[in-house]
Amino acid sequence: MRAEDGQAILTLNAGSSSLKIGLFSAALGVMATGLVDRIGGEGSLVLRADDGTALTLPEGMRTDFADHDGALATVLRALEALFPGLGIAAVGHRVVHGGPDHHGPIVIEGDALARLAALEPFAPLHQPHNLAGIRAAISAFPAAVQVACFDTAFHRSHPFVNDTFALPRAFYEKGVRRYGFHGLSYEFISGALARDWPALAQGRVIVAHLGNGASMCALRDGRSVASTMGFSALDGLPMGTRCGQLDPGVVLYLMAQEGMDAAAIEDLLYRRSGLLGMSGLSNDMRTLEASDTEAAREAIDYFVFRIQRELGGLAAALRGLDGVVFCGGIGENSRTIRARVAEGMGWLGVHVDPARNAANGPVISPEGAPVTVLAIPTDEEIVIARATAALAAHRERLEA
Ligand code: AMP
Repeated sequence: MRAEDGQAILTLNAGSSSLKIGLFSAALGVMATGLVDRIGGEGSLVLRADDGTALTLPEGMRTDFADHDGALATVLRALEALFPGLGIAAVGHRVVHGGPDHHGPIVIEGDALARLAALEPFAPLHQPHNLAGIRAAISAFPAAVQVACFDTAFHRSHPFVNDTFALPRAFYEKGVRRYGFHGLSYEFISGALARDWPALAQGRVIVAHLGNGASMCALRDGRSVASTMGFSALDGLPMGTRCGQLDPGVVLYLMAQEGMDAAAIEDLLYRRSGLLGMSGLSNDMRTLEASDTEAAREAIDYFVFRIQRELGGLAAALRGLDGVVFCGGIGENSRTIRARVAEGMGWLGVHVDPARNAANGPVISPEGAPVTVLAIPTDEEIVIARATAALAAHRERLEA
């Protein structure tokens, strides 16, 4: 199958119980986006056209949300009905972990899948689902080029001091390192800066990806030099349900004094902490902003404070600051959180203009401010699609 034949590129972003899809033309125009939710449960599929309007699924179409194979088969039935004659030239997959060696996307061939499966212990909650999506796509499209795009790859440029922990060196060699995640989002923002703010892109920029998962990344000349996430997607900022930075002594206490085993601690730190755990109310920022409980206020206070702390730390790693970018569901939409983060950060040159902030940017700092502050929607799917198209085209040139 050839991308030049007008065939489409499919992107898959498989979570533990969800599957995000993107359908792109060979010229990388969006044809459709979609989300399967609650795989393994009630399950649902919503597909949208390029303008965001919901597409009506064919009446009586068979659906199966029992597992990722069933969910992908359901998506394909819907796409075939809605886009008759559609051919998929290549499938791009978001894969959370690429390990120490992958600095960019790869074509899945040879023993690549086995090598990615060997990284499952590093990301046990995400990697198995990502690889299940790849296996399902290989069986659905045996002739298509399959490409893996890693959340860790963008951060492999970190210097050693931002790549290691102060453990005996043998652990580093075994792969116990600060990998950093959300790399596809940061790659998108880095590209958007290079295109629309080229002077800023060459400088020192901190990107805050604030969504249900949240992290921050320090960019110098468009490359990642430090990130708040580390070995796992738990470190750094508090998130919807994840704790963020935690003294490892707390884990020892939970084991020794509370009798918790690894599974119980994993459940606590990944699913019952963060905004949800602190507020006792919700992991959703909109719900917390609308609440008048003390606990909801404290959860937001902690979220804002930790972002401010990391701003200071990452600015130190960059030896100064020229720009700040907010993205992710909270960063793109919550003027309150953006304004609160900027409050008290004037010493670092970070100021937010109320009117620009209310208009959602993209520039939200005042004219002439020392640090340019932006709010930009991120787009991980287009990053996957671009990489997939490029590797598929390269493959065709080699085969020609
Ligand atoms: P994401 O994981 O990037 O989809 O982001 C999800 C988070 O964004 C949730 O906490 C939402 O409450 C939050 N969010 C989305 N829209 C808004 C908004 N208008 N104001 C505040 N938070 C928002």
